[in-house]
Amino acid sequence: MRSVAFHTLGCKVNQYDTQAMREALTEDYRIVSSEEGADIYIINTCTVTNRADQKSRQQIRNIIRKNPEALVAVIGCYAQRFPQKIAEIQGVDLILGNGEKIGITSFLNGGEKNSRSEIFVKNIDSYSRYDTLSVSKHHSHTRAFVKIQDGCQNYCSYCIIPYVRGKERSRPLENILEEIGGLVRNGFKEIVFTGIRLGSWGQDLNGRTLNHTVQGEVALAILLERVSGIEGLKRIRLSSIEPRDLNEELIDRIAQLPKVCPHLHIPLQSGDNKILKAMNRPYDTFYYRDLIEKIREKMKGVAITTDIMVGFPGEEKEEFENTYDFAKKMKFSKMHVFKYSPRPGTSAAQLKRRVGEQEIKKRSERLLGLSLKMQEEFSRLFLGKTLEILVEKRRRNNYLAGLTDNYIKVAFNGPENLVNKIVRVKIGEIKKGYVIGRLA
Ligand code: SAH
Repeated sequence: MRSVAFHTLGCKVNQYDTQAMREALTEDYRIVSSEEGADIYIINTCTVTNRADQKSRQQIRNIIRKNPEALVAVIGCYAQRFPQKIAEIQGVDLILGNGEKIGITSFLNGGEKNSRSEIFVKNIDSYSRYDTLSVSKHHSHTRAFVKIQDGCQNYCSYCIIPYVRGKERSRPLENILEEIGGLVRNGFKEIVFTGIRLGSWGQDLNGRTLNHTVQGEVALAILLERVSGIEGLKRIRLSSIEPRDLNEELIDRIAQLPKVCPHLHIPLQSGDNKILKAMNRPYDTFYYRDLIEKIREKMKGVAITTDIMVGFPGEEKEEFENTYDFAKKMKFSKMHVFKYSPRPGTSAAQLKRRVGEQEIKKRSERLLGLSLKMQEEFSRLFLGKTLEILVEKRRRNNYLAGLTDNYIKVAFNGPENLVNKIVRVKIGEIKKGYVIGRLA
C-alpha cells in the first residue's frame, strides 16, 4: 500500500475537506503524518489573502524539496484560482480544484508519478448541488467539524471566496444527520457546523430533501432542531454566520435549544458605515448593534466573537477610529483581525486610496490589543461561577484544559480520564490571560 500525507491551510471548511479526503482514501492507501515520510503528499490550499497564497506556495516548495521522489498533489482554493502559477513550481504532479476533492481517489490513480504536472480544475460555477464526502472522526478527539454547505454568492467587494467556492449549495438534511450520528457513536460530544456561508443553508433545498417549503433563514433553525434531537450529542456550535443571515425568529428558536452553544461568531469587518457600503456588506452599524442587543437579551452569557478587517481602501484615521470605538462598545469576547489584501479579480482591487502597510500594521496591533482586553473582561464576568467544560487535553504542568459552551478556555487540575468528559469547574482566577478553575 502506498502512503499519503496531508497538509491543510486556511479555514475550518478546508480542515473538514481534508478529513473527508483522508477517509475517502483509507481503503486504498496508508494515511501517515508528514514526518513519517509519504509516497504521496496532498496539499489543501487557501487563497483568502495574498499571505495565504504565499504560505500555500511555501508549503508546496518545502514538501517538494524534502521529498523529491514523492507524488505531490495540490488541491483547494489557491489551486482553483491559479492553477498555472502552481504548474510553474517544479515538481508538482497534480493540480486539482475544489470540485475535484470528491473524486480524489480517481485523480490519484494509485499514486503513479507523472513526468509533468497535470491540471484538472473544473469551473466551480458548474456545480449546483452539494457533493458529499463524509467524515466519521476528526483530528481533535472531542470536537468535530461538520460541513453543512459550500459556496457563497454575497460578493463582498474585497473577497475572492465566491470565485473559488462557487454557488451556494446545501447539504441535504438526512445526510447531515447521518454524519453526526456516526460522529456521536465514535465518541464526539461537540460538533461545529461549518460552511462558506452557513446562513444560506436550506435555501436551495426547498421541497427536495426537506418535506416542506423552507422560508429563508428559518431553515437553519429547522436543521438545529433536528440535530438537537440526536441522543448523546451534547453541544452544537455554529462557526461564522453573517449578520444578515440572523433574524429575530432564528435567534428566538436557537435560544430555545439548550444544546446550541451560546457563542456566535458574527463578522463585522468595519464599524464605519461608509466602509461597510464600499465593502458591499449588506448592513450598517445600527442593524449590527440591534442584532447584538437582541441576541444578548435572548441568550444568557452569550459570547459574541467577530472578524474585523483593517486597511480597506479609503479607511482613513477617522473611519478606523469609528471601527475601534464601535468594536469596543460591542464588547466582543474575541476579534480576529485581518489586514486588507487586494485580491485580483475582486472589485475592491481596483480602488484607489490604499492604506500604507505600516499604518495597517499599527491598526491591526491596536485592535488585537483591544481584543485581548475584551477577552479578559468577558472572562471576568464568570469569576466565582461554576461552568461546564468539555475537557480537551492535558497541557503542561498537569493542567487539563477545555472550553465552556461560551468559548472560554479554562485550565484546571484533574486526572487524565476526564478528557472528553463534560465537567463542572468553578472559575477561580485569571492570570496573564489564562482562566484557571477548580473541579466543582
Ligand atoms: N463570509 C465569511 C468570511 C470568510 S473569510 C464568514 O461568514 O465568516 C474569513 C475572513 O477573512 C473574513 O471575515 C475577512 O475578514 C477576511 N478576508 C476576506 N477577504 C479578505 C481580503 N481580501 N483581505 C483581508 N482579509 C480578508
